[in-house]
Amino acid sequence: MSIVVQKFGGTSVASADRIRRAAERAVAAKRDGHQVVMVVSARGKKTDELVRLAAEITDSPGPREMDMLLATGEQESAALMAMAVHELGEQAVSLTGAQIGVLTDESHTRARIVRISTERMKEALDSGQIVIAAGFQGVDSRFNITTLGRGGSDTTAAALAAVLRAERCDIYTDVEGVFTTDPRVVPSARRVERISCDEMLELASMGAGVMHSRSIEFARKYGVPLRVGPSYKDGPGTLITPEPADPAPVVTGVAFVRHEARVGLTDVPDRPGVMSHLFGKLSEAKIAVDMVIQDVGRGDSASVSFTVPESDLAGAEQAARDVAAELGRGQVESYNNLSKVSIVGHGMQTHTGVAAQMFRILADCGINIEMVTTSEIKVSVLIDRQACDDAVRAVHDGFALHEARPVVPSVGMAAGIPAARRSPPADEEIVERLSGMEDIVVSDVAADLDQARVTVTGLPDDPGTAAAVFGAIADGGVLVDMIIQNAGADGRAGISVTVPENDADRTVQLLKAALPDAGTAVSCEPNVGKLTVSGIGLRSHTDVGARVFRILADRQINVQLVNTSEIKVSILVTPEEAEIGCQALREEFHLTG
Ligand code: ASP
Ligand code: MG
Repeated sequence: MSIVVQKFGGTSVASADRIRRAAERAVAAKRDGHQVVMVVSARGKKTDELVRLAAEITDSPGPREMDMLLATGEQESAALMAMAVHELGEQAVSLTGAQIGVLTDESHTRARIVRISTERMKEALDSGQIVIAAGFQGVDSRFNITTLGRGGSDTTAAALAAVLRAERCDIYTDVEGVFTTDPRVVPSARRVERISCDEMLELASMGAGVMHSRSIEFARKYGVPLRVGPSYKDGPGTLITPEPADPAPVVTGVAFVRHEARVGLTDVPDRPGVMSHLFGKLSEAKIAVDMVIQDVGRGDSASVSFTVPESDLAGAEQAARDVAAELGRGQVESYNNLSKVSIVGHGMQTHTGVAAQMFRILADCGINIEMVTTSEIKVSVLIDRQACDDAVRAVHDGFALHEARPVVPSVGMAAGIPAARRSPPADEEIVERLSGMEDIVVSDVAADLDQARVTVTGLPDDPGTAAAVFGAIADGGVLVDMIIQNAGADGRAGISVTVPENDADRTVQLLKAALPDAGTAVSCEPNVGKLTVSGIGLRSHTDVGARVFRILADRQINVQLVNTSEIKVSILVTPEEAEIGCQALREEFHLTG
């Protein structure tokens, strides 16, 4: 019999009435002939209330006790839900994470799942019961209660769907689905019919993220079809699939992180090991770094800039200070009041000028860009927080995301029509080799030796600079790969791009013609190698960056430039180093062939 997982978020179980309605959905699916597992969050704002209550008692609640406390919210919902199902005449059993056997590591408040036993759930399902699982929680090997991080019930749902080989996982929430951007900022934002896991991952940790990003990692890794949609009515929701739509939109959505902060570590020695050192420290502090930029070295000095959520700023600053102290050299600066705005879409892989268009739109609004990073399907800019909403609106309008697009046929979520077929696991072999379910899947490491780097320095740190640079390159028809822009300590900006080797001279000419300003300089390194590490959860697994840079440092490889996104880390080195590094990294992450 097919298994269906239904997850209900906090608002969908906030009152007795809503609990009853959620129970009705589960009962309907059961009577349709499915075995049903419900995953529930804490009611309404319960978790927030508990956090506040703890704060009234102490400034620094111990993480173990915090987990004991927060896990009660989900336990309450699960018990009430079981009663509601009983009232409807079906059998149900509520289970805590511990009772199911959701085994996690010991990192309280941000635990990762190691294993899930299916025995008890299967037994209950086979005896005709609806299983109601408390989301967000597990136990470590010593039976301490752990939680998976805020919003973690989505991850519980996707993980249970994966281990139970569920036919689908429906996430019922208080929104209609995934939107082109946050409708509170742009009222004309539209529901996206279908989005790929990669696009979702690039969006997920941001403001537009409807779901916990680790749940998407599970979905992609284990091929669980996800559908996210409203619990308060019958709506089609958004289907989240491993493959992109074909043809894929150039831009699927605009995401933003309002509260970003930036740390700069300048004037460190330009030699192997520095990045490794920094990333090791950040990883120890379990700080997920967002944008990372290492500037092109000047003389024997290099500088690194990275962004973190504002709440991690103090820890990140400390890590950078420790590195400077241990190196005996380097200055640390930090900047607050920043936001990150990103465009995401598979179509930009094959279209030139998408970044240029974004920069032009921002320039026309007088918005200054402080940092730029890219992946194949994403361009992110760091800007002043005051300009965040304006930037999101302008970019959404500029790419006409409010307009209806050709859509894939929608599938009724509540109507019981089967959702998209389960797609095969990302790579069963890799998955099998994982010791813990949430271990990083580095799906590929590749070296591209046919790239050149072109760098412009001494640019005015003003609105329109990036637009001018990329307008010129796009007009010349050159497909830019990596884009890295950083505001220097000297108040001037630097932009580096990688382009195909054959286009290097032309790119230099285009830039020299477009930038007559005497203060700017264009330089070109015709032979560079680009190492790309791709995978799911590179950002949430804080140790992956550390491992990558340690491997390179061990091989005495000097990192010239770094660029990151949710699903990719790109590193510029020499072509020889790219080959050596690629092999070493493939060994490290057990990639064959
Ligand atoms: N109740 C938890 C939270 O509010 C987990 C969840 O809702 O997914 O973060
Ligand atoms: Mg939630």
